[in-house]
Order: sequence, then C-alpha cells, then structure tokens
Amino acid sequence: MITGTGVSGGIGIGRIRIVKEQKIVYERRRIRDTEKEIQRLRSAVGSFVKVTEELAEKLESEAGQKEAEIIRGHILIMKDPVLTDEIEKLIKGGECAESAVEQICNMFISVFSAREDELTKQRASDLEDLKIRMIKHLIGLDETVLSSLPPDTIICAKELTPSMTAGMDKKNVVGFITEKGGETSHCAIIARALEIPAVLGANGIMQLAKNGQTAVLDGISGKIVLSPDGDTLFEYEEKKKRFDEKAELLKNYRGKPTEDSDGRQYSILCNVGNSQDVDKVISGDGEGIGLFRTEFMFMDRKAPPSEEEQFEVYRAAALKMQGRPVVIRTLDIGGDKDVPYLEIKEEDNPFLGVRAVRYCMKHPEILKEQLRAILRASAYGDVKILVPMIADLSELMFVKKMTAEAEKELEAEGIDFCRNIDIGVMIETPSACVIADLLARESDFFSIGTNDLIQYTMAADRGNSDVSYLYSVFKPSVLRSVMHIIRAAKRAGIPVEMCGEAAANRLMTPLLLSFGLDKFSVSPSSVLSIRKEISSYTKDQADKIREAVMEMTASEEIITYLKSELDKYADD
Ligand code: PEP
Ligand code: MG
Repeated sequence: MITGTGVSGGIGIGRIRIVKEQKIVYERRRIRDTEKEIQRLRSAVGSFVKVTEELAEKLESEAGQKEAEIIRGHILIMKDPVLTDEIEKLIKGGECAESAVEQICNMFISVFSAREDELTKQRASDLEDLKIRMIKHLIGLDETVLSSLPPDTIICAKELTPSMTAGMDKKNVVGFITEKGGETSHCAIIARALEIPAVLGANGIMQLAKNGQTAVLDGISGKIVLSPDGDTLFEYEEKKKRFDEKAELLKNYRGKPTEDSDGRQYSILCNVGNSQDVDKVISGDGEGIGLFRTEFMFMDRKAPPSEEEQFEVYRAAALKMQGRPVVIRTLDIGGDKDVPYLEIKEEDNPFLGVRAVRYCMKHPEILKEQLRAILRASAYGDVKILVPMIADLSELMFVKKMTAEAEKELEAEGIDFCRNIDIGVMIETPSACVIADLLARESDFFSIGTNDLIQYTMAADRGNSDVSYLYSVFKPSVLRSVMHIIRAAKRAGIPVEMCGEAAANRLMTPLLLSFGLDKFSVSPSSVLSIRKEISSYTKDQADKIREAVMEMTASEEIITYLKSELDKYADD
C-alpha cells in the first residue's frame, strides 16, 4: 500500500492511466531575422491564448468559475509585459523563441521556487505548466492528449497541471493520484470542485504503477492499493457504497433549519474568497456569508482594486444573499499573504509584523476606500464589517473612527448606505481573547479565527510541519480560550461566530454547542455535514461531553474521547 495526502474525498476504483510529460525537443537555433521570430512568438502567444480561453470555458462548465480562473491566470501571465519583454529581448539578441521562453520562464521559476510560502511556490508550478504549453505551441505539438479516456480511469501523474485537468475527459475519471502537490495545490482545488477522489504527494507511484493496472484509492485517508486482491477490492467497494450513501443522506439536510435535538437554532454561514465562491454558498445551502476574505481581490494584480470595483463585488454578494448576512472582512494581508505592489517591508517575523489591521492603520487611505465600498454595499443587504488580527482595543477604535468618517463622506455625497452597520472583531490573538470583555463593549459581534488563534496561542507557525504536533484546536489552552471568548460574548449579549477551520470539525461540534456558539462559518462543502452534526445533540449531551473534555490534560486523550462520542451520536 502507498500513502499520500487525501485531498478530495471519496473512493476511486478503476484502472490506472499513466500520464507522462510529453518529451519536448527543439533545435536551439541562432536567429538572424529577429523581427520575424518575434512575430512567430506573438502568433504562438495568440494561439496559446485562444486555446487557453477554450480550456477555461470547458473547465468553467464542469467545475466552476473559480477553477476556470486558475487556467485564465495563464493568459494573464503570458500577456504580462514583465515576461514578454524579457523573452523578446532574448530573441532580439539572437535566441530562437522556444529557447527564449524556456530561459525566461526558468529564471522566474527558480526565483519563485526558492520562496517558502505555498502561494509563490504554486506560481512556480503554474509557470512550469505555462512554459511547456507555450513551447508546444511554438513547435506545433498537440495539447489535448487526455481528451478521450475509457470509463473508470484513475489518472496517475508526477504532477497534474491545471491545463491537463482542464482538457481532460473527466466524465470517465474516477480518481487522481500524483507524486507532487498537496491540500492547497490547484489540482486539489479542481478535484474537489469536480468531486473526484484524489490522493496527491504519493511518492514513488510513477515507478510502481503500470498502465491498465487495477487500483483503488481513498481520497480521505490518502491510501492507494495497486492490484488489490479480491478481499481488498470488496472492502473498498463497500467503503465506496457507504461514502456515496452518506453523501446522499446529507442531501436530506438541504433546505432544513439548523437546530440541535432540543430545537435550539443556530446558523451555518460560509467562508468565501471571491465572488465566484458566493455561488457555492447558495449551491452548498449556506445561510449567508460569515467570512468574505477580501485580500484575494488584492492579489495577483498590480494595483489595489478601486472603491468602485470593490463595491461592485460586495454589492453582488449582498444581492445574491438576498437579505442573509454578508460579513466582509477588511484587508488581511501580511503574514503569509504577500501582495508585492503594497510594498510590505521584508520582516523577520511576518506573522508578528505589519499584518491585517496593522497594515490598514499604516495605510488609512486603503482602509477608507474599502470601508466606503462596504458601506455602499450595505444598502443592498445585511452587510457587516469584520476586523482581523485585533490585539488591542485602540485598533478597533481606529477602524470605528474611520468608518464614521467614511459614513460622513457618503452622507455628504448623498450616497446611500446602511446607518449603524455592525462592526465585529476577529478574535484570533491571545491578547484579544484575554480582553474579550473589553472588546465586547465596543463590538457588535465576535468571530473566532481559530486558524490564527491556535498558532498564536501555541506559538506554533500554522504552516510549519515541524511544529504541527502543537498546532491543534484540541490543546487544552486553545479549548479554554475558545470557551472564554464565547462566554465573554454571551455575558456582553453579543452574537459570536467561528470562522476558523475548527468550525467545520465534527469533533468540535458538541463542545461549540455547549460553549454557546451561535454561528458556524465553514466552507460551502461542509454546511450539510455540520448541520447534521448539530442536529444529533441535545444541550445536555453536549454539556456532558464538554464537562469531560475540560477535565482532560492532553489533546490526544481529548481526540480519542471525542471520536468515541462521535461514534455514539453519529448515525453513519
Ligand atoms: C482564522 O485565522 O481562523 C481565519 C479564519 O482567518 P485566516 O485563515 O484567513 O487567517
Ligand atoms: Mg486569521
């Protein structure tokens, strides 16, 4: 058995199809007529853009707009003068177009690969994909090798690029296995959107697997079995049946109110990163938007989006939610989210540096523009403001002051907006947790950001696997913090939601119910499973579980106990 990272749930049973990179061979020529060579490059770019747009449209209809944007990103890169000017410069110096593309792309790839953060590394792998595709266009190689596949195919590759998945005959694909890639790679995102089970990071699979070989894969545990024997095959067929039945069962929770066994009401909102995700809130049956991560709108471009552009995006979200809540978080950049044109200084400790509200306080013009856009959108729905990374009351007061100023401006300009917009605080630093009572006096609601709360409470970088043993919401200190925050909100009479990943963790559900959480904000694909989970507990049952857990001293013990309780209450 081989194990990788399960990134897209479900069981795949089928036959392996090995996908190898096409060998690309070209003759490196010296060019005399460089003008003609530049024309050849430009015409290849033209055909590249045309094919890429077709691939994006195909992917959009199969997986969704967000997934298609990944492919469209190739067009943006290929049209970027930073890249094309450099390529043309080399051609003018006598390089042939293929070699110029290869050299310049390689230069950017080595710069990006050397960086630590996942997003920049992902950009390197996008450029690798783009480089090979561009050279294929220059030498006239066919790109669409996977457009026709036999039924029950498991695609096995070193790495699956967005362009490979875009052109693929996906109705016949029952699984993806790759050697490279992880949870946040584009392949993972596309696999989840297509609901195809996927195991990535399966080292050595390309040497072990053979074309036509029967295989099974588990997209949750990350297990892969090649040439399974009869018993194993039967075991996986049963697992697949159970998984599919469970998915079917969850559909019963669609359109139902979110309530526990006693009939207490809760809300399940969704986390979104862009306007395309907003459609998934509706298809996932979310009850509104609990976290709009606006920083993604600021990334992969050269200047901040204007007030008008932001307003259009926020208004569209508000209109689509039809009166249900839309919580828009102000810019949360810095930390691992670098936006080059915003010129955030290199810092020794970016997670402890000028991040989120701290950046906004240094650049009030950017914050003001965003607040104006949010306020204007508030005329179209139940829009709220959420401020990230608050560590001190003064930061919240600053944002409130800026909001009041923005309101005054809009008033003077005769622009419509909602008076008394709710302003909430993300509780994600230990300081905010400790002064939750003080913050509650000045906030309309809290939203607990466990992703950061864990890293700052445990002093363990959320992206560093060497300290991942400390990074757990089940550490007693983190659980106590969460309980403290919720209780502080209750005492102050303000609603409290959780938008960190822990809100979608079923083991956490009874604890959150017992602590008194009002709203869960999760990814659209988790709405139904958390609604079902909430429905399985009475308040008494949840309280008993909480009492037992809060006496325990080790996260391992807590997890084992919660798993055994989950087995008791879950009917799947
Ligand atoms: C969090 O920290 O829990 C959170 C939701 O914010 P982000 O993951 O965007 O930092
Ligand atoms: Mg956070």
